[in-house]
Amino acid sequence: MSNQNPTLESALKHFFGHDQFRFEQRSIIEQVLKNKDVLVVMPTGGGKSLCYQLPALLKPGTTIVISPLISLMQDQVTALKDNGIGATFLNSTLSSDEVRSRESDLLTGNVKLLYIAPERLFTASFLDFLEQLSQKVGISTFAIDEAHCVSEWGHDFRPEYRQLFQIKQRYPQIPIIALTATATKRVRTDIVQQLSLNDPTIYVSSFNRQNLYYEVLQKSKNAYQQLLEKIQQYQGKDKGAGIIYCLSRKHVNEISAKLIQDGISALPYHAGLVNKERENNQTKFIRDDIQIIVATVAFGMGINKPDVRFVIHYDLPRNLESYYQEAGRAGRDGEAANCTILFGWGDVHTVKYLIGQKTDSGEQRIAQQQLNQIISYVESPICRRKVQLSYFGEQFVPPCDNCDNCLSPAPIEDWTIEAQKFLSCVYRCGQRFGMNHIIDVLRGSNKKRVQELSHNQISTYAIGKDRTADEWRMLCRAMIYQGYLEETTDGYSVLKLNRKSNQILKKLVSVEVPVTRKITKSASTKAKVASTELGQEATLLMSQLKNLRKELADQQNVPPYVVFSDSSLRQMAQGRPQTINAFSDISGVGSRKLIQYGKVFTEAIRRFCSEHGMEVVSDSFSDEERAACENKSKPDITSTQLKTLDLYQNGSSLADISLARNIRLNTVNGHMAELISAGYSIDIDKLVDRERRAVIEEAITKVGPHSLRNIREEIGQTYDYQEIKLVRAKWESETVKE
Ligand code: ADP
Ligand code: ZN
Repeated sequence: MSNQNPTLESALKHFFGHDQFRFEQRSIIEQVLKNKDVLVVMPTGGGKSLCYQLPALLKPGTTIVISPLISLMQDQVTALKDNGIGATFLNSTLSSDEVRSRESDLLTGNVKLLYIAPERLFTASFLDFLEQLSQKVGISTFAIDEAHCVSEWGHDFRPEYRQLFQIKQRYPQIPIIALTATATKRVRTDIVQQLSLNDPTIYVSSFNRQNLYYEVLQKSKNAYQQLLEKIQQYQGKDKGAGIIYCLSRKHVNEISAKLIQDGISALPYHAGLVNKERENNQTKFIRDDIQIIVATVAFGMGINKPDVRFVIHYDLPRNLESYYQEAGRAGRDGEAANCTILFGWGDVHTVKYLIGQKTDSGEQRIAQQQLNQIISYVESPICRRKVQLSYFGEQFVPPCDNCDNCLSPAPIEDWTIEAQKFLSCVYRCGQRFGMNHIIDVLRGSNKKRVQELSHNQISTYAIGKDRTADEWRMLCRAMIYQGYLEETTDGYSVLKLNRKSNQILKKLVSVEVPVTRKITKSASTKAKVASTELGQEATLLMSQLKNLRKELADQQNVPPYVVFSDSSLRQMAQGRPQTINAFSDISGVGSRKLIQYGKVFTEAIRRFCSEHGMEVVSDSFSDEERAACENKSKPDITSTQLKTLDLYQNGSSLADISLARNIRLNTVNGHMAELISAGYSIDIDKLVDRERRAVIEEAITKVGPHSLRNIREEIGQTYDYQEIKLVRAKWESETVKE
């Protein structure tokens, strides 16, 4: 497969430094290059951005990215720029002068990605601008990030997203790529309809985040001490970053204060802090100035710090979907990370109390169902992954080998007889009741409700007194996970039989249940250390490289992960690349980063090797190499070329220049190409016909920019090398912009 379109792989390495595509990134990108509408559903950390960023670089014109959060926009643009890619954003934080200057920059065609908030998109002034952009430069694609915001069924509906249907109306020919991490079908359908996507290809990747370790710990009396120990364990020597989620602002304040007292570098985050303090704390976390943020759920949306090594829920999460999203903020970079819930029944009572305070009975019902689901998650002896994924309608066959239940599984027992009792009780009660009522009947409860319904008269009444209510619950949940029983999701959690239930009732299959006597295992389960174990030397080198990264990041005023990801540093610490070649092999090192950081990092590695008595390779990243490398992406402009430019800017045609300077026309043309690819603003439309340019650009996208001959073969003899050269230069200046 991978040699179908090898230029895509080389473009991936060149711009982003990655060696291969993940999941379906490649085929998504191919669709976008073919101008098809696409919907991408991928979990956080799946690599959605690349699906529109790489095509943006390969297609002529500008890609418009609609993104709901200002902080996200800024992050993305910073990261792109650090890879040498022309990107910008327009939002309310900019002065009108700044906006004008960015707009005129966009009209030169040098910016490949424009990030914009939905509410600005449909202002009269922006629509005017968009029209100009579309005429002068062209719009290659509309990318709609966080696309679930169009849906009222999603967890983050935004009215301004509703307006986005206008995009298709105004620009029916321009493809849309919509991206979201929301898993439900309902929201997916909504996105397609609301955005009027045209026969979109829909990609849904698995929601399984293999690198995350999930565990639930029973809260002890001294929960804070437990938390502190967990943090110390997870932070390890690496001092990795972590998020602690609490339900209330009060908890956030208390816990963060205590942690600080205990010498942990932590800060609080919640909606009650003044804006400035909140933003400061967030920035410090993102920049690795502090390691721990203690937060309410207000924290996280729009934070794409990829190297969060652990997420601990000090209080019970609101529901399973939020838990999945919140825990999912760990390990976006694909490196190992830990997700822990500290579970105590006290929290359940608090949540129940809060639910009781709700006035809307519908809301109350939904909240109660969500509470039941999260309780059943924390109590479950079954693979945590399986429970989460089955919530999203995804099948997963355990063991996952990366959750507490799989690593120290509960003993399995045969509970077929009990299962039969339970199912027949569901049947006798008319399949109209939830778990707790069925258990009441089985255990012969005297509750008024049981009497009123005459359920004390049916044959299964009181046949299950030998088991505790907890045990029945455990069985019931196990049957639901194993598909022997259905539970409605309409808020009433009614139990219903299905075809598989009949197999049990007919004694065709036996029911095996993992049995936990206590609800959760104690902290004795050996949780993983945050990162894959590095040797002693590699650990030492890693921490030196981290310091170097931080220093470089601070100099540029960007978050450290923009310089390099943890996984790139880890590869460096393990492989100890000392030459330009070896360094360029590291995943995450693209052309731009090679130039910018290759020298200083290889030097640090060589220094480390020499200090530790390891072999030092003399073939280092020399200044000449660096210069050669720089020239590759930005040719030096000579005085003769500048003379050509001067004449051209004073109104001479290329033929005039050739005559005036007594040099060949081809040479003049070559000068122009060089000037263009160095980024001099030269209107290519005056040199090459627009339609011909489009054909040439398409060929470049297909066969790559390296060989003029291949490009010409792709489009035929009616095109000459001179115009191909000019178009290629323009293409390069756009894609390798500083
Ligand atoms: P999402 O938007 O889906 O949450 P991102 O686009 O932020 O995910 O990507 C998550 C992380 O994965 C980023 O650090 C990104 O650099 C990295 N990444 C994306 N694609 C690849 C790839 N093909 N190879 C290696 N890393 C990748
Ligand atoms: Zn598991």
